[in-house]
Amino acid sequence: MTTSPRKIAFIGAGNMTQSIVGGMVKSGYPSELIYVSNPSQPKLDKLSSELLVHTSHNNAEVAATADVIVLSVKPQLMADVCAALRAEVPNLADKLIVTIAAGIRIEKYRQYLGDDIRMIRVMPNTPSLVGKGMSGLVADDRVSEDDRSYITEAFDGVGATLWVANEDELDILGAVAGSGPAYFFEFMASLQKAATALGFDREKARQMVQQTALGAAEMAIASELELEDLRKQVTSKGGSTAKGIEVYQGADIDDISANAVKAAVQRNQEMA
Ligand code: NAP
Repeated sequence: MTTSPRKIAFIGAGNMTQSIVGGMVKSGYPSELIYVSNPSQPKLDKLSSELLVHTSHNNAEVAATADVIVLSVKPQLMADVCAALRAEVPNLADKLIVTIAAGIRIEKYRQYLGDDIRMIRVMPNTPSLVGKGMSGLVADDRVSEDDRSYITEAFDGVGATLWVANEDELDILGAVAGSGPAYFFEFMASLQKAATALGFDREKARQMVQQTALGAAEMAIASELELEDLRKQVTSKGGSTAKGIEVYQGADIDDISANAVKAAVQRNQEMA
C-alpha cells in the first residue's frame, strides 16, 4: 500500500467481504489491522485461519476498535445494524464509514448513523468474487483525498475502481457495471444456444463462447482503439463476420442496450 494502513473493520463476513479482505491481504495489507464480525462462526473461522485476520461476533466491538468501518450486510439488514452501531460505538464521526450495499443513499446513512459521519459508497460487481470486479465509488464532501486513495487501494485488490461525481452517476454505473455481468451472460448464453442449435455439443459451445468473451475483453483492455474500431478491425468487408454483424445491427443493438440501461437506472432510483 502507498497510503498508511489503518485499522479496518468489516461488518458481515459474506462473499464480498471474503473477496475484498482476500484481495487486500494478497496486496500486502497487514492482516493484524483487519477485523471482521459476523453472526455465524464458519465464515469467521475460514477468514481467521486462511487470512489471519481478527474475528468477532460483536459488530460494535470491531467497529469501536477500527478507524474505518465497512458495512457489508444485505441492504434489508442495514437499518438495524446501523442503529446498533450508533447506540454502541462512541465517536462514529471520527471514523471513515464505507458501505458496499446496493441502493441505500448517503442521506439515509446520515439518518441511521448521525449527521456528522463521513462516508464513501462503493458499488462492486460480482466479478469482484474472482478478482476481476469493477467497483464504482462516490464520497461525500467530508471525505479527504487520503481517505479516497486508501479506499481505492483496498478495492483495487478485487479489480478496477472508478470514482464518480455523485450518487446519480453511481446509479448509472450500477446499471452498466453492476448489472452488466448479467447482460454479458445473457449474450453468451444466446451464442451458446446458437451453436448448439446447429448441432454443437453444449459443453464445447460453452468453452468456445467463454474463451472468446475473455479474449475479446482482454483485447479491448490492451488496445487503445475505440471499441467500434476494434470491431471493424475483425470484420473483413464481405466476409462471414460482416454478415453476422449485419444481423445484430439490423436488430438495433444500440437501442436495446440504451433501453436496458435506462430501465436498470430507473429501478435503482425507485429502490433508493
Ligand atoms: P452475503 O454473502 O449474504 O453476506 C452477508 C453477510 O452478512 C453474511 O455473512 C451474514 O452472516 C452477515 N450478517 C447477517 N446479519 C448480520 C449482522 N446483524 N451483523 C453482521 N453481519 C451480519 O452477501 P454479499 O454478497 O457478501 O453482499 C454484501 C453486501 O454487498 C450486500 O449489501 C450486497 O448488496 C452488496 N453487494 C454485493 C455484490 C455481490 O456481487 N455479491 C455486488 C454489489 C454489492 P450469516 O451468513 O452468518 O447470517
